[in-house]
Parts: sequence; structure tokens; C-alpha cells
Amino acid sequence: MCRRHALLLLAITGVAGLQGARSQAGEPPAYDVYAVRFATLRGYPVASLVQGADPGRKLDIAMSVWVLKGPGRRTMLVDAGFYRPQFFKEGNVADYTRPDKVVARLGITPEQVTDVIVTHTHWDHVDGADLFPKAQIWIQKDEYEYYTGKTGRPGSDRGRPMPDHLAALVKLNALGRVHLVDGDAREIIPGVTVYTGGRHTFASQYVGVNTKVGRVVIASDNVYLYENLDKHVPITATFDATANLAAQDRMKQIATSPRLIIPGHDPEVFVRFPKPGNGVAHLD
Ligand SMILES: [Zn+2]
Repeated sequence: MCRRHALLLLAITGVAGLQGARSQAGEPPAYDVYAVRFATLRGYPVASLVQGADPGRKLDIAMSVWVLKGPGRRTMLVDAGFYRPQFFKEGNVADYTRPDKVVARLGITPEQVTDVIVTHTHWDHVDGADLFPKAQIWIQKDEYEYYTGKTGRPGSDRGRPMPDHLAALVKLNALGRVHLVDGDAREIIPGVTVYTGGRHTFASQYVGVNTKVGRVVIASDNVYLYENLDKHVPITATFDATANLAAQDRMKQIATSPRLIIPGHDPEVFVRFPKPGNGVAHLD
């Protein structure tokens, strides 16, 4: 190659390189997002999920973790399920696979999980956080402090022995692995933003994630079932029903389309997103 051609080539690749950097800075990375079902909770009363529902209605609800597979080596979970023996005592857990094993359906080992976003401190979402030995944990600061009794606010667990799943979270914090997110609409990792206001728990959060088909919202238990969204009815367990409805409305603004709002426990998710199957739903 003559010197002139070499310089020309350098100029072209230089420009292309700059454009690459610019589009990286301008557009967040696109994740592949999956719901992965690790268990069923049999015969759950719908009235405990949807305010005003017929008290006789029962539903086998899906217990899920959500996987965000990023470009490069970032593999995140939204929530981590449960595994401690006390949660199996009632005998209503069926089709169970431990959350650190269930991710193998997507070819993921527990060590490969880089981050776990905990939407709230309930046992079925936070208990499994310590199954992923290298993961950084992300939770709202107010949620953490309220439920671990750091602030002594009413409603915290202060004065009672701390349940194991919260003690495990405190332990992870002592190891320096817990990141306390301070507030609403925080992009904690490029392409992944957490939002507050759902009020399922004191400071529950939900997650907006950039994908090839647009913005997906992992509502977790801030929306239990599609029925909450479709009938515009708050979840039953909430600190503030009005705020919960406002959060549902906001999710419709955040998500690129309403079908990309993913409720926390609806088995219908695996019907609406049937691929690839075997308890795994690619949310696209
Ligand atoms: Zn739940």
C-alpha cells in the first residue's frame, strides 16, 4: 500500500471509530431480556393480588427471576428467587428449580451473574441473592434501611429477630457487595434504569431495560398480574393504592408498548412470550 492510501485508510477508520464511539455514547446497549420460571405457587388467592377480586378465585402463580443478557460479559438478574427450607413448609411450592441452577437453561453459571437488582425485600425475590457469588446487588437505599431496621422507622423489623433472607442481605452489604440506589429514575448501568413509586413495599423498585425491540419494564410485584394493568386495579399488598396506579400509568409511558410491561407473578407471561419455552420466555 502506498503512503497516500495508507493515510486515506487511517482517515476513514478514524472517522468510523469516532462514529462508533459516538453511537455508543448516544445509545445505551441493547439487552436480551428473559423471564425464567423457577417454581409455581399453587392455589394462590387472586384477591391477594388484585384488589376487589372474587375471594373464591385461585391461581397457580409463576415464580420467576428475570435475566438481562448484555453485550459483553454483563449478565444481570432482576430478583433472585428463594431457596431456604422454611419457604417450602406450606407445601404449595411446585416445579421447583433452585434459581442458581435454573439460569443454566440460558447457559449461565451462577459465577457469570455480574449483578442482581433486587426489586424489594420479600422472601420470594431477595432470598436467593447470596446464591450468586460474584454478583453486585442493587437495591433502593430506603428499602434496605427500612427493612433491615437501620433507621428504626415504624414497620421495620427492628426489635424482632431478623428473618434469614434479610440477615443474608445485611451480610452481603458487610462484604461490600450491596449498592444502595438513592431514588427514582436512576440509570444504574448503561441501558438499565430503576424506578420507584410502585409502593408494593416501602420503596420497591421496577426496572426499565433497553432491548432491540424497545424499552421493556420488569414491573416485578408492583404489578402482580396482567389483570392489574388491564382492569386498572391496584395490587392488593401496597403501601399506597393511588401511588401504585400512578406507577402503572407511568410504566405505560416508559415501556415502548404496553405488551412490554412484565408483571411479577402472572403465568400468562409464558403464554404471551412462548419462546424458547421450557419455562423461559424471551421478552421481545
Ligand atoms: Zn413476589
